[in-house]
Formats: sequence, structure tokens, C-alpha cells
Amino acid sequence: MSTRTAVVTGASSGIGEATARELAKQGYHVYVGARRFDRVQRLAEDIGGTALELDVTSEDSVRAFTDAVERVDVLVNNAGGAKGLAPVLEADLDDWRWMWETNVVGTLRVTKALLPKLIASGDGLIVTVTSVAALHTYDNGAGYTSAKHAQGVLHRTLRGELLGQPVRLTEIAPGAVETEFSLVRFDGDAERAAKVYEGIDPLYAEDIAQIVAFAASRPPHVNLDTIVVKPRDQEGPGRFSRRPAN
Ligand code: NAP
Repeated sequence: MSTRTAVVTGASSGIGEATARELAKQGYHVYVGARRFDRVQRLAEDIGGTALELDVTSEDSVRAFTDAVERVDVLVNNAGGAKGLAPVLEADLDDWRWMWETNVVGTLRVTKALLPKLIASGDGLIVTVTSVAALHTYDNGAGYTSAKHAQGVLHRTLRGELLGQPVRLTEIAPGAVETEFSLVRFDGDAERAAKVYEGIDPLYAEDIAQIVAFAASRPPHVNLDTIVVKPRDQEGPGRFSRRPAN
């Protein structure tokens, strides 16, 4: 049997990088894509995978990336993130465009391009990393929550449209995971980013990677539809139990 192949978008840090490592451990050849090519190149060297530059907001970049992938059994739609935290009244339209282009249209571009190959594999799996922000709203978060809701709706619609095809679909909706996510959201402000995880035990990228690997290791007739995972210290997007600062 030929080697099973996985594609992980946004593999240059956080959940994507950890997922690529976990899938490689399971024996997958992993194609890792992101805009920061030096990072995915180092990762590919480590795991014996293939690094490719990928900007999910660019039609040409996605075409070049997906053309280079000959076979795909597992697609992990992970590239994404948030920009800013502002009330609707003060919404920054460029931030909104970034979030919609990356999380929603980016997921659509990559999924659409790889779908024929996933079907051809005979047992394809699409994992989309949405968020608890795909299930709930929170004040000042409408740019991100609306994008994540839309990404979730895209993914869930495919579940119905692909009935009868050999493709499974798993949505993973994490709560707070300590990655570069908040650093990106707050434009490189490390102090503000650190506050998000202060006084809680957050999830780590490896926790999500292990869940992706578990979903991928189920037999073909088992479809894990939606997995919501949060730190014990978190009940909802904005509701945490925090230890007081010393
Ligand atoms: P992260 O460490 O910031 O990783 C985000 C990844 O997305 C990076 O590899 C980044 O790579 C990539 N990316 C961003 N824009 C891209 C683009 N235009 N084209 C290709 N890749 C792009 O954050 P993370 O927490 O691992 O985030 C991964 C996913 O989990 C995101 O979809 C995020 O919304 C979701 N999520 C995160 C949390 C959390 O609390 N951390 C919770 C729920 C859901 P480059 O910058 O190199 O392109």
C-alpha cells in the first residue's frame, strides 16, 4: 500500500506544527504549508515531510500548493487566526477582511482544490479547526466569531453534500490554546497576549494534535463529527476560572 498522505495548512506554528508532527509519528507523509517558509522547511526536515509555501488568501499560491500535492488522505484546515478585539461600532474593516479571507475563504480555496484528490483516496478525511468562537458569540469578538461561524457552516455543509462519498469530516472546536494566536491577534504585543493565559492552565497545541491524530486513526466507517475541547478552567469563550496573580 502506498504511504498515506496528509496536508496541514498553517503548519509554521502552534496547532498546525504539532499536528504535522503527530501525523508524521503515525506514519503519514505530511505536506506542511504556511507563509513563513523557513519554519515549514525546518519542520519538514524534522519529520521527513514536504514543505511548501502557502498563502491561503492567494488563489495562485493555493493553486501551486495543491497542484504539488499528488495524493491526499487527510486534509487539516488549520490556517487561521484573529486580528483585534473591538466592538462592532469600532470595527476595523481590514481586520475583518483578514479574518474572513484567512479563516473562511482560505478554507474554501484549499478544500475545493483538494476535494477530488480526497475522494480519489478512497478514504479521505477533512479536519477543520474552528473554535468555540464558531459556536458562541462574545463582546468585542464579532470579527472572529462571525468568521469562525462561517468556517464552521462551510465545513458542516460539506458533511451533507459529501454523503455517499468516501470522505469523513471532523470539526474540532477548541477553547483557549496557548500558541502564537494571541500574539497575532494583538499585533505582536507579548504582554497583552500573555494575559489571555494568565492564571489558567490552557490547552497546548499537542492536545489538539492528539485529537486530530485520534480522528484520523478511526476506521473508515467512523465519523467523529464535532469535537469541542476546552481547558478545565474555561466554560465558554469569555468565561474562565483564574487563579489570582501573586
Ligand atoms: P498560531 O500559532 O498563530 O498559528 C496560525 C497558523 O496559521 C500559522 O502557522 C500561520 O502561518 C498560519 N496562517 C495564518 N495566515 C495564513 C495564510 N494567509 N496562509 C497560510 N497560513 C496562514 O495559532 P494557532 O492557535 O495554532 O491557530 C491555528 C488554528 O486554530 C486557527 O485557525 C485558529 O483560529 C484556531 N484556534 C486557535 C485557538 C487558540 O486559542 N489558540 C482556539 C480555537 C481555535 P504563517 O503566518 O507562517 O502563514
